[in-house]
Parts: sequence; structure tokens; C-alpha cells
Amino acid sequence: MGIKKAIFLDRDGVVNKRLIDDYVKRWDEFRFMPGVVEVLPDIHAEGYLVILITNQRGIGRGVMTRNDLHQIHRRMQEDLLIRTGHQFDAMYVCSHDNSDGCDCRKPAPGMLLHAAKEFQLDLQESWMIGDSESDIEAGINAGCRTAKIGSKGDSTKATISETDLRSVWNALKALGSRLHPIQMQESKDR
Ligand SMILES: [Mg+2]
Repeated sequence: MGIKKAIFLDRDGVVNKRLIDDYVKRWDEFRFMPGVVEVLPDIHAEGYLVILITNQRGIGRGVMTRNDLHQIHRRMQEDLLIRTGHQFDAMYVCSHDNSDGCDCRKPAPGMLLHAAKEFQLDLQESWMIGDSESDIEAGINAGCRTAKIGSKGDSTKATISETDLRSVWNALKALGSRLHPIQMQESKDR
């Protein structure tokens, strides 16, 4: 079991605003969600790595190239570093489409498991934060705790459900140290 812990963040709808029926294909289409820039240093201060976990099937579908995505992520990291002195510790991208049958496209846990191996993470002490139930399922499938950003009253399997990242982070911090170890029956449908 690893000794480090991580906050895994979904990208579209968590780090940046989602585009309706479209993909973020260029940096000028990228807008940070409220709270992200402010919360990032706080997460690091609590001893978590911050790792981006994103499905980007726009690449698999030919809507954008892998290089387009690299350029966006390079600019995002530069911008975060300039504004906060912090950036993502790692970024994992699944570029496959549903039909490709990969083990990385969320809700599959592949990207989280890969990160756990690479950074020696304790997944039970780590959290997956997303705005889709497939993010939550990926987190559960990897054995993580989960938090959802969504509308009030959303039905979700996530432990925490709030409307923005700052509220999720506050709830997570308040809850984190008081949680018991994840019980096996919580993850029996793995
Ligand atoms: Mg999302």
C-alpha cells in the first residue's frame, strides 16, 4: 500500500467549464471553473498530490489532435503556476471512445490505478472528484473516496455532493480525518 495520497480531479466541468455539445480544442476556449485556482494551493498544503484524470474522446473521434490537447494542458499548467505557484502533479488522459474497449476510459479505474502505481498512492486515503457519475464510479472502482460537483439533490453514489469545488474541499477536509477505513461491502460490485 502506498504512503502518499491524492486528490484526483476530473477536468471538464470541474477544472474548466464544459462546452455545450463541443470539446475544448484550444486554450482560448478554456475557462477555469470558480474556486479551482484558489483551492489548488490548499490541497497541496494538506499533503495531497493533485492529479488530473480526464476522458478526451475528442482525440479518438478526430475532433482534435493529441498535440492540441498537449498545448491546452501546457498552457493550463503555465497559467496555474504563474497565478498560484502550484500546478497539477500529473495528468492522465484517456483518448479512447466507448467502443474501443480500453481499461482507462472512466468509469473504468485504469488511469487511477496507473497513477497509484506510479506515485505509490494509498487509494483509500485518496479522493476522486468529478461532475459525472462515471467519475464517481471510476473512483469507487479504484477503491477511492468520492465527491461530486453537481446540482443540489443530485442522486449519486459519492460520499460528498456539493455545487462547487470550494464547497467539496471544505466538506472533504471536515470529513476526511473522521472517516473509518473503506469497508469491503462498499466496493463489492467492483
Ligand atoms: Mg466532467
